[in-house]
Amino acid sequence: MSVENQIEKLRNELREHNHNYYVLDNPSISDYDFDMKLKELQRLEDEYPEFYDASSPTLRVGGMITKNFQTVVHAQRMYSLDNSYSKEDLEDWEKRIQKGLGDTEVEFTCELKYDGASINLTYENGQLIKAVTRGDGFQGDDVTTNIKTINSVPLQLKGDYPPKFDIRGEIVLPFEGFAKMNAERVANGEEPYMNPRNTASGSLKLQDSALVAQRPLDCLLYGIVGENTGIDTQWQMLEKAREWGFKVPTIAKLCKSTDEVMNFVEYWDVHRHELPYETDGVVIKVNSLQQQDELGHTSKSPRWAMAYKFKAEQVSTILNEITYQVGRTGAITPVANLEPVLLAGTTVKRASLHNADQIAKYDIREKDTVYVEKGGEIIPKIIGVDFSKRPQESVPTQYIEHCPECNTPLQRTEGDAKHYCTNYYGCPVQITGRIQHYISRKAMDIEGMGSETVTLLFQEGLITNYADLYELTKEQVMPLERMAEKSAENLITGVAASVKIPFERVLFALGIRFVGETVAKKLAKAYKNIDALMRASEEELTAVDEIGERIAQSVIEFFQNENNRLIINRLKSVGVQFAISAEKLENQTEKLKGQTFVVSGVFEKVSRNELKKLIEDNGGKVGSSVSSKTTFLVAGDKMGPSKRTKAESLNVQIISEDDFLAIIG
Ligand code: AMP
Ligand code: ZN
Repeated sequence: MSVENQIEKLRNELREHNHNYYVLDNPSISDYDFDMKLKELQRLEDEYPEFYDASSPTLRVGGMITKNFQTVVHAQRMYSLDNSYSKEDLEDWEKRIQKGLGDTEVEFTCELKYDGASINLTYENGQLIKAVTRGDGFQGDDVTTNIKTINSVPLQLKGDYPPKFDIRGEIVLPFEGFAKMNAERVANGEEPYMNPRNTASGSLKLQDSALVAQRPLDCLLYGIVGENTGIDTQWQMLEKAREWGFKVPTIAKLCKSTDEVMNFVEYWDVHRHELPYETDGVVIKVNSLQQQDELGHTSKSPRWAMAYKFKAEQVSTILNEITYQVGRTGAITPVANLEPVLLAGTTVKRASLHNADQIAKYDIREKDTVYVEKGGEIIPKIIGVDFSKRPQESVPTQYIEHCPECNTPLQRTEGDAKHYCTNYYGCPVQITGRIQHYISRKAMDIEGMGSETVTLLFQEGLITNYADLYELTKEQVMPLERMAEKSAENLITGVAASVKIPFERVLFALGIRFVGETVAKKLAKAYKNIDALMRASEEELTAVDEIGERIAQSVIEFFQNENNRLIINRLKSVGVQFAISAEKLENQTEKLKGQTFVVSGVFEKVSRNELKKLIEDNGGKVGSSVSSKTTFLVAGDKMGPSKRTKAESLNVQIISEDDFLAIIG
């Protein structure tokens, strides 16, 4: 092989590995092998400078110094985004769009709003030519040498890219890398950085690109600008960019209605803390580029896009101690015990730390000053550390290896978010947790009994599982703390009354891992009784709508367990419902199988909820918004006009309450 070919081969290999590692998060060779290949390439390039290539992977290590960053005028202006803070804001925006476009179908893409520094990258013939900061939107600074050191920025594209285009994105500093950088700085006696966003944008203006190369920066892309790119929609844009080698987060959704958009927004408002980098909202864009064009821009921002800002209230306080909670399934949840602090109107003393990864990601330690945030969720979360306040003697958090309740070594299987205590029958908190779940309101709803009573009964050796509840006597219960004759009687009648609770709730009450209320309903409906469910194979279970492998395996495991089967038999013998009632069976049909209904407005003969139940009992599905998948729109009084227009434009049949009742006969 000629030297030139050898160099080219190495460059291609390294590009591929680089893409696998930094863009796909899926490395294909070891770090060591990668370094060896890179060194070999560097040696050849030094020896044969005539084969210089501005996109060579060796340039990632940086080394070029920029004294003054050149000002570059953007070929197309980089606009700001309009902000919205509520569902109403979004609906108003949708109305303006509908008005602007006339009565046509509009789809939206939802993407996360990455919080970092904006960047515009120019590619020609597949090579990165220029990288320019946003600046004032009209012109920015040429930071190409610094950007080239960021591993997820492709220097050479692959696939069917157009000859010339610009692509826009955000340079971010993921939490984990940020925490590591700060820990090192503090150890060296330097001032820690404030937050990932400012550090990311500061990094772009460092004069020495070798320093930039050391920072774990990432580049997330979201928009292509250019002529004749062959792209028609925002969604396609994301897909194409991904194909050409760019890092485009897959967390994005193509939506047909503001309801769907709101679902995405609400989900990520809560779950964004699980992401490796900072986000501050969702960006919603009209999907069709032709419609985008029609809508155009205001003086500041495009009319076709809208940022929905997450609401968050933040405070900082001291983390006194990390403790560990054991759930009824054995899952371990680390908890931050905080110096009490006022947040969003309530005093916060504890915050969930979710799992070991969360602690490692932010490098959270006891005695740290931490930022606590309350978003859409009820339990506040820790979203970062104020490294400037970290005490000298601080040491990294050692995650526990044994169950704090029973000392069993913890296990974490691949794919599990949490560590587990596997001592299912011996771990006291798991035992009481399961019984507490069984009696809870949404499960068996046993009156006259609370969580503390369960703990007391267990401590007195009166119960070790939920079947034991049915054998309790008044005489056994009365001597317990805070019990009197009356309350003991109530407890016993409450337990006895629970045998009337319907099968689907019993199934939920059993506490099978991953079987929540909805799944329990689905399983009860599909199998009708527990014997059929216990016989079901994994293939059969996964064939049920919305039941995946993980749930199926958990169900099978639960019923394979000898002890569980014994408990179920005991429950059966006292009369707990293990089959759908005859009456309910009678009312269930498959008449509406394969049909989707949207219900809107107020009804005369049945309530809206009853109507929905009738649809489901007859095998139909209830959708929340009208789409091309909707079979019928059941229209009541005072129905929303937009639903009607939508249904008409999509040729969805609109029927009345009476029409519906006639269908199910
Ligand atoms: P703002 O600075 O609040 O006006 O918001 C505009 C900035 O949001 C843009 O300059 C982008 O850099 C940034 N941004 C982050 N994520 C996205 C995204 N998915 N789509 C569009 N812009 C985004
Ligand atoms: Zn345990």
